[in-house]
Amino acid sequence: MSRSALPRRWRRLPAATAAGVALLLLAGPATAGTAAPPDREADAPIVLERSADEQADVVEVVVDDTARLDELVATGVDLDHHVTRTEAGIVVHAVVTPTEVAALQRMGYRVGAVLHDAADSAQRVSERDATIAAHQAENRAYTATLARSAAASDVKIIRADYYTSGTNQVLSVEAKWAQGQTSTSALTVARDSGPGTEIGSGGTQNISRFVDAGVYLYHRGAAAVTARPQRIQITSPTGDVAVAEVSEWLPIPADSPEGPGYQKDFVTSYLTPTELYDRIKRLADAYPQLAEVVKLPYQTNGYRRKAQVVLGGTNATRVAVDSLAWGHEGGNDITVALADPGAADRPLAVTVTGKDIRVSLATDAAGAVTSTAAQVAAALTAEAGALVTAYTYRGDAGAGVVAPVAPTPLTDNLKAPAGVSRDPHPVYAIRIGKYRDGSRTGVLAYAQEHAREWVPPLVTIETAERLLRNHATDENTKQLLRTLDIWIVPSINPDGGHYSFYDYASQRRNMTNHCAPGGATDALARNSWGVDNNRNYTEYSLFDGYSGASASCTGDTYAGPSELSEPENRNVDWLAQRPNMKFSMNLHSSGNYFMWSPGAYATPGRISAPRPTLADESFFWGASSRILTAIKRHRNMAVTPARTGPISDVLYSAAGNSGDMLWYKYGIYAWNFEVGTSFQPTWDEAHQEAMEFSNGLVELLRVARDFDKDKKRPTSTLAVAPSPTEGTVSVRFDVSEPAAVFYTLDGSRPTFDSILYASGGIREGGETLTVPVGAKVHWFSVDAAGNIERNYRPDDASLTFNRGWATLPTG
Ligand SMILES: [Zn+2]
Repeated sequence: MSRSALPRRWRRLPAATAAGVALLLLAGPATAGTAAPPDREADAPIVLERSADEQADVVEVVVDDTARLDELVATGVDLDHHVTRTEAGIVVHAVVTPTEVAALQRMGYRVGAVLHDAADSAQRVSERDATIAAHQAENRAYTATLARSAAASDVKIIRADYYTSGTNQVLSVEAKWAQGQTSTSALTVARDSGPGTEIGSGGTQNISRFVDAGVYLYHRGAAAVTARPQRIQITSPTGDVAVAEVSEWLPIPADSPEGPGYQKDFVTSYLTPTELYDRIKRLADAYPQLAEVVKLPYQTNGYRRKAQVVLGGTNATRVAVDSLAWGHEGGNDITVALADPGAADRPLAVTVTGKDIRVSLATDAAGAVTSTAAQVAAALTAEAGALVTAYTYRGDAGAGVVAPVAPTPLTDNLKAPAGVSRDPHPVYAIRIGKYRDGSRTGVLAYAQEHAREWVPPLVTIETAERLLRNHATDENTKQLLRTLDIWIVPSINPDGGHYSFYDYASQRRNMTNHCAPGGATDALARNSWGVDNNRNYTEYSLFDGYSGASASCTGDTYAGPSELSEPENRNVDWLAQRPNMKFSMNLHSSGNYFMWSPGAYATPGRISAPRPTLADESFFWGASSRILTAIKRHRNMAVTPARTGPISDVLYSAAGNSGDMLWYKYGIYAWNFEVGTSFQPTWDEAHQEAMEFSNGLVELLRVARDFDKDKKRPTSTLAVAPSPTEGTVSVRFDVSEPAAVFYTLDGSRPTFDSILYASGGIREGGETLTVPVGAKVHWFSVDAAGNIERNYRPDDASLTFNRGWATLPTG
């Protein structure tokens, strides 16, 4: 961009005036005068006078020689600077009225051709007006085109992605429509059928509104296609049009990052948390130079429960009994019986023999039992309080008369074999890397925050094995272990994990019962307890007023009594605090999603946690495409564009999730996998999923390595385009890689405090700035690794920032 460039619409001048006249002068030969020879002596001195109501013309006057020219000049006639010597004499141009022409002729001057008269001037004026009008019309038409096609069009295509998945060909389209909040209309997408074909020749597909928390986000939809389209067009219900090129989502490059002989496929069955931890211990033992198992600082509350029973049928007659001891520490040996004494007028009495508790129920004069649930519960707690506590059912008054019950054992209901520890459980990580001293870029992968998700832990095990078993033979793997400090936690929530395997397959949370007395604390509620470990973190949590977590102790997204109340969560926080930790992957299932922050919003209004900067968002997208391409390599399973992006954009709000804590509190690039198609798929499917997502996790490590080695400075350019607003232009910045752009428009040096170039909106690229024509633009870019363009130093006197002008390019 040149500083002298003028906007296009000002550049072309009205045609014809000066140049046209010059041509006329050159072409017009000096014609001989037609006037009669003057009779000077006979006349009085002639004075050149012009009448105010006359127009002047440009006429040729021909004189014989220089002396005569001098006389002509002496008359005071208005000559232009044209003097041409011809065979007929000296031709000059006079700007004279008809009266003056007559006077000159009376003086004996030969007056030749009229070169330019008032009509000519009038014509010039009308030509000029026409030209200006044409330019204005052109400008209006251009502005209207712009308005229709881009800035002011009410529909904008955000993404148009063609991809293959399995044997399918799919086109996924996302678009924003200005009326999307109020109108429920779908949008119709017309496709071409390849390069050079007509729009519509590839068919059409509808895309529908994506509305979340009452807020319209965009339209989206995918459809099977039979050919790869080149372009699509959307005509909105108001008639506005948007056109976009289709890009290919996750094309698989020919060259594989896995060298010849690369070993994989190390998992052969689902693994319980106990087995997962055993596995990483064996691995670390086998590779002591490269790995170690680290016991994280916080132990869980343990796969353990009090022994319990609920006696009785209806709520009013129920008596709930809990042991004081843990089930495995004696609670399970306790029995309780409610006995009819078989005699009239007997009092309520409790006898404890060893661990057998016998309640002899009260009777009336007729021998009928009269003890209510409330009375029995009170008597049990009072008389057998060394062994149990008893209470009515969930706050019921317990006024119903109880029925006799034969001796019934209390039980913790835990069915795992004895090899599964009932004690508070350590959580283990395997730390992999040649240099495990904090000097290398840290990467954290952790799975099974949610107990029932059995495939994600396998992804972590498969990945750990690939790293260690390929190290000796694969240069690429060797490099990863040289440059990174890799922490892998196969199960964050071992208690819930064990419970899911042995007791209740659908368990999502940990096992800790936070329900208060009078609530759902009895044995019948045992599958409803626990804290959702992915809602118990510190940023944008339920406690901060964000959506997508429950305050109920039995809710499946229970956030816990307070942030980081759970040991499982404190362990993740401890890992994230490590100063070298830069990247993380939180592995969940299912749905084949790939997501990052923000993961939460507040309602009403769907007020999102802060969105990443444009640069960070681009970095997330760029790394994502690498990771998802690696996943796709395994069996051509494409994580779709619609399932890639910020959690709250593609899924739902999840207040207090771990990814948000890692990103907002610690600045870690934090991603989330939702692996596969279900929590506990058939083994064949689970195995495939473990293989493909391990590909993705290894690729995340390569992203981290490349980040670590990135010393390349970004470059950036200013793109200026016409703006629909008079006196302004549209300005965007283009960068060579994901990078932040800081800019000023007032001629000052840009610094990190200057304006940060932002995203145009959810899932859009860089914003389009509307800037006064001619504004000075100063800027620099900085990539995610901190490399600054042109070695500019924003904080000192360095002047190597970029300079440009908000003017349209010439040409
Ligand atoms: Zn989950």
